[in-house]
Amino acid sequence: MPELPEVETVRQGLQCHVVGRTIEAVSVLHPRAVRRQPAGPAEFSSALAGRSLDSARRRGKYLWMSVGEDALLAHLGMSGQLLVGEPDRPISPHVRIRFTFSDSGPDLRFTDQRTFGHMCVVRDGAELPAPIAHIAPDPFEPAFDADVLARRLRGRRTGIKRALLDQSLVSGIGNIYADEALWRARLHWARPTETLNGPEVSRLLEAVRQIFVEALAVGGTSFDSLYVNVNGESGYFDRSLAVYGREGQECRACGTPIRRDPFMNRSSYSCPRCQPRPRRARL
Ligand SMILES: [Zn+2]
Repeated sequence: MPELPEVETVRQGLQCHVVGRTIEAVSVLHPRAVRRQPAGPAEFSSALAGRSLDSARRRGKYLWMSVGEDALLAHLGMSGQLLVGEPDRPISPHVRIRFTFSDSGPDLRFTDQRTFGHMCVVRDGAELPAPIAHIAPDPFEPAFDADVLARRLRGRRTGIKRALLDQSLVSGIGNIYADEALWRARLHWARPTETLNGPEVSRLLEAVRQIFVEALAVGGTSFDSLYVNVNGESGYFDRSLAVYGREGQECRACGTPIRRDPFMNRSSYSCPRCQPRPRRARL
């Protein structure tokens, strides 16, 4: 599933290849892709035809392009891709929406094999689309305030990993990056948030930022081509993972075998020595 670095890579691609161009026509090839559009596919297409895409923005895992005062909002779901390419290339069976442009240049295709992703037009949503206004800023937005987050974390009375995954506190962090950031900050995932001190919170936020920057740098290498691409199975950061998916393998810092614990129907990976379990754990 795409996490923030992958979605940011797509945003940069859209900014580069699509922003500043005028949409000629929009074909919705599968109505499920616009299921959040109140009046359906016809409304979606007519709201965009003839208008120009002004900027590509992101909050957490949501992307939007401003279209005048409105927004074209996208969530990639599990397997969504936004692909830019020559307009006469064959249309794959997984293409859900196709945008052509009045300059007759490369088109934009939303493909989504598993159809969990979607797009919709949000009126007056250019600055921040209403459907995602409840989502907290992610660590790369100008609106992100580390002091506010630190205060809210300490007031939460939950486990630190659960808090990191709560999109109303901070957005864009998924299971993989949460485990990696906690390992780097030497914090156990079940540490009660109210027991974190200021330096520990700063260390954790710095670790989150570092990991995103590193993942973005790797995501950027495959990005010279015309194609704007998120691969749902995306594994390009795998080689750098320190704990996630490494049960029983040696900790890269101390050599202790990495431990896996069940967590919210998924798993948490940690080093028992670098990240000692707190006496009073909050799961
Ligand atoms: Zn260790």
